[in-house]
Amino acid sequence: MNAVGRESPTRGLAIQAQPIERDAAHLLDALEAGVLILSRDLRVEYANARWSIWLGSSISAGVAFISLVRENGAFVQDELRAALADGETRNLHLNLIGGRDNAPRHVSCCVRVAGDGLVIEAHADADDEHAAMHDTARRLGEVTDMVEVLRTLCDIAIQQCGASAAAVLRVVDHQGEVVAAAGDLLPALGHCFPLEGSLLEKAISEQVIVSENHFRDSGRPLMRAVPELSLGPVILAPLHAHGETLGVLAVARGVSAKPFRAREIDRLRMLADHAALAVHKSMLLMQAQSADRAKGRFLATMSHELRTPLTALAGYNELLCDQVIGPVSDPQLDILERMRSVTMHLSAMIEEILSFTNLEEGRELVRPSEFLVADLVRASIAVVQPMADQKKLTLEVVLPKTPVRITSDIDKSRQILVNLLGNALKFTDAGGVRVVVRKTGDDVRIDVTDTGIGIAEEELARLFRPFAQVDTGLTRRHGGTGLGLYISRRLVTLLGGHIEVNSQQGAGSTFSVIFPVAWEARS
Ligand code: ADP
Repeated sequence: MNAVGRESPTRGLAIQAQPIERDAAHLLDALEAGVLILSRDLRVEYANARWSIWLGSSISAGVAFISLVRENGAFVQDELRAALADGETRNLHLNLIGGRDNAPRHVSCCVRVAGDGLVIEAHADADDEHAAMHDTARRLGEVTDMVEVLRTLCDIAIQQCGASAAAVLRVVDHQGEVVAAAGDLLPALGHCFPLEGSLLEKAISEQVIVSENHFRDSGRPLMRAVPELSLGPVILAPLHAHGETLGVLAVARGVSAKPFRAREIDRLRMLADHAALAVHKSMLLMQAQSADRAKGRFLATMSHELRTPLTALAGYNELLCDQVIGPVSDPQLDILERMRSVTMHLSAMIEEILSFTNLEEGRELVRPSEFLVADLVRASIAVVQPMADQKKLTLEVVLPKTPVRITSDIDKSRQILVNLLGNALKFTDAGGVRVVVRKTGDDVRIDVTDTGIGIAEEELARLFRPFAQVDTGLTRRHGGTGLGLYISRRLVTLLGGHIEVNSQQGAGSTFSVIFPVAWEARS
């Protein structure tokens, strides 16, 4: 205004001052800098729009300036008073309250005396951009589900680009599709539109940011597909990660709103770059999850299919062994015995896989009954005794003097114990296995101790993961699915208990199962 007055003192003011005064507020609001006028008592008389954006809400005239500052209020007040007193210009760094997500907003201010009061001209610190991107990374990092990632991305884009609408568009089956939307673009969610002539096609094929200032009147395919959209300026940035274009991120404003400025377009570009990685990660996760589900379904079907013929094989084998069909010679009996042992081993593996798929699908239910722990141990020992005999290992049981009667699921507890005993015998070549039962308070504790190969400390944490085996080489000595401990842990959790392991490489292991004597359904 002064410049106009100096160039043409009378005519300039007469002709140009009027429109400038009328538009002064708009002009000040359009500045990237924050402009704020303070009265002598350090209360706000005027603040342009930039300050409201920084603070996340409009500022009422008369509020104390220090109430806008997050910390060091007393110091700031002293500095402002000093500026008023000596008339010197001062530079201050302030940390403002409020703002997006209450994230700290740093501004550098230049404080000058003007008339009775002060003028504060402020610029967002460069690290404000970093703060915005940090915020983006944090918010996107908190979500993994694709729908959530895309919705969060739209919300962030609206906030960071000063938009009223945002959407993620993708090419699906040679068409454009709005796969996520927020704000004024919500009516477009789920809609498909032809690619030809669309901004989506342009952004993807040219790999650039594209824009349209009057989208409602543009006749673009999306506008034709969703005529109720009331959008003015629109910009789209490609979401590009690992050599793949995943879609575009679009932001928009209302019909009569101002076009996006260079800074906001830059923001969108940065946001899209950042977000593309999060979208890519989420896509990989989705693929992995669906592969996992497919694997689970395959395992379940395959095990079912294998179980039926195996049961038949075991049955025929038994008929032959029992010599029901006719007499068999000793060498033939020996072969039949071996066949039986192999069939039983296969059956056990299949049962393990079935247990695994049942647990994964939440189909395992606890069926409580009352029984003696001694009976549980006896039944489990009976299953593994042949293995101990074959390997010439001792199998010792120590029971408490007073019989322990419990209410739990006998089948599940036997499955756990048989698995721990089976492992103990499998990984022991000399010595033996000892089972000690104790009642501790309201729990029963069964320790299975072996004199086997033991487990290195760094391996202990991953033992209970599905398919985890210490020895995974092709030349591994011990068979198994790597599911036993995982299943055991899941089952004991269903029974309200847990498993503990103590082991030393080369010196043997103790696996302990601890579960309540009285099982109670969890509400
Ligand atoms: P599997 O025995 O079918 O391989 P598990 O889940 O029962 O699967 O056991 C996982 C791994 O933990 C085994 O492969 C083995 O490396 C280790 N492990 C389990 N029990 C013992 C044990 N008593 N002694 C030594 N290693 C063991």
